[in-house]
Amino acid sequence: MAKVTKLKRPEMSTKDNIYLIGIAKGAFITLKHAFTTVFGKTRGADSLGSSGTGVTMQYPEQKWDDELPEYYRGAPALVTDEQDRERCVSCQLCEFICPPKAIKITPDEISSDDPWAKVEKRPKTFDIDMIRCIYCGLCEEVCPEQAIYLRKDYAITGTSREEMVHNKERLYEIGGKRVGLVNKWNELK
Ligand code: SF4
Ligand code: SF4
Repeated sequence: MAKVTKLKRPEMSTKDNIYLIGIAKGAFITLKHAFTTVFGKTRGADSLGSSGTGVTMQYPEQKWDDELPEYYRGAPALVTDEQDRERCVSCQLCEFICPPKAIKITPDEISSDDPWAKVEKRPKTFDIDMIRCIYCGLCEEVCPEQAIYLRKDYAITGTSREEMVHNKERLYEIGGKRVGLVNKWNELK
């Protein structure tokens, strides 16, 4: 039979039973932060000629862009290669892996007279719903062609749901060209 060990709860002292000290400590920290926020100077306040009071950053005049770390995950986008070819081969792995199902791809066959015929497919349509996207980066991780990357864009806005769906053209506009990556189809073209 398993040995049962009974643990004795420590007795609480009178001081422990009075929560006033803990409450006072918490209130002091809250007041300290409130005071610093209201009367302190915020980052970049001097360069913008602003008092810098009561806010944490002078957005949108000032942005985090220069201070974002290398590993920051912003909006996903598609990239082209040095020959301006779409790197995406429409394998749909990213569509399959995307947790919130934000990606929708319609594959298109590349015709036999195309210089890139051996690639076989490219996306006819490629949409990413930025309302659904959770910036997880799985699409970038899974892509065998280094065709999709999370850029540092974080100010993704729109005035309608339709506008928040980035189509292929918009994704290439954000992504641009990336050179020096794997080019597994080049020798087969
Ligand atoms: S970052 Fe994540 S959620 Fe956004 S499109 Fe890629 S896989 Fe989907
Ligand atoms: S972006 Fe990459 S993973 Fe997604 S369909 Fe294109 S090649 Fe496949």
